[in-house]
Amino acid sequence: MATGKAKVVLYPDPSTNIHWLLLHTCQRNNEIQQTGSAMAPAAASGEGSITHVIFDMDGLLLDTETLYNQVQDIVLARYNKTFDWSLKVKLMGRNAAESARIFVQETGISDYLSAEEFRKEREERMKVLLPTCELMPGASRLIKHLHAKGISMALATGSQKKHFELKTQKHGELFSLMHHIVVGDDPEVKHGKPSPDLFLAAARRFEGGPVDPQRILVFEDAPSGIHAAKNAGMSAVLVPDPRLDSSHHDAADQVLKSLLDFDPSYWGLPPFEDAEC
Ligand SMILES: [Mg+2]
Repeated sequence: MATGKAKVVLYPDPSTNIHWLLLHTCQRNNEIQQTGSAMAPAAASGEGSITHVIFDMDGLLLDTETLYNQVQDIVLARYNKTFDWSLKVKLMGRNAAESARIFVQETGISDYLSAEEFRKEREERMKVLLPTCELMPGASRLIKHLHAKGISMALATGSQKKHFELKTQKHGELFSLMHHIVVGDDPEVKHGKPSPDLFLAAARRFEGGPVDPQRILVFEDAPSGIHAAKNAGMSAVLVPDPRLDSSHHDAADQVLKSLLDFDPSYWGLPPFEDAEC
């Protein structure tokens, strides 16, 4: 059992019917966060019924958000502005055009820089930065585990295909374990998250699809993605940036500090074996 990792398990309390979180023995050094504090309704009804998994990408599997933040800081510094985390929440999970529009409007720089100009500058800077992005903690372990256990997985990202390819340059082997990938500029995706379009398209493309949304578990780092999953009728695990205000946690069925804290057995999925822990 490797150090530095944690396992969080939900146990039912028969007297209150509330499930409490207990920490198991795969101890890691930093503290364990609050996780879904009480049993979520969808989890209660859906436990054991999950057969397919859909992952978001940015900020969930790949640490691209740090790179986007760097570019936004550079642009705003020219106008003596600083980036506010509350704006970040509005941008997360949006497609490129939507996020550019929201960014210039909300920061008050639209008189100096149009959404299209910002989008082009961001594009140029990100071409250089994106191929350097790293995996988020626990992403590789979880994807390899689910693949080894025969759980079919898909990726549903608001990123355009060309950005997906840049971001995954170093991680092709891991992403090849997905049954399929739906990108933000897919012809079947008319609207970005929180529209359910991405997740419903992903559900349709599983083998033998469309898969019943109640059998699909979505992993997301963004509130808009959680809403997209719920709008699609799916269960949703939120793995948020720690700066995300907890008021955004409510819509998720479960909230984890890290993918390292995910316990597959809570959702009826095959558990990690000790060697993976
Ligand atoms: Mg994301």
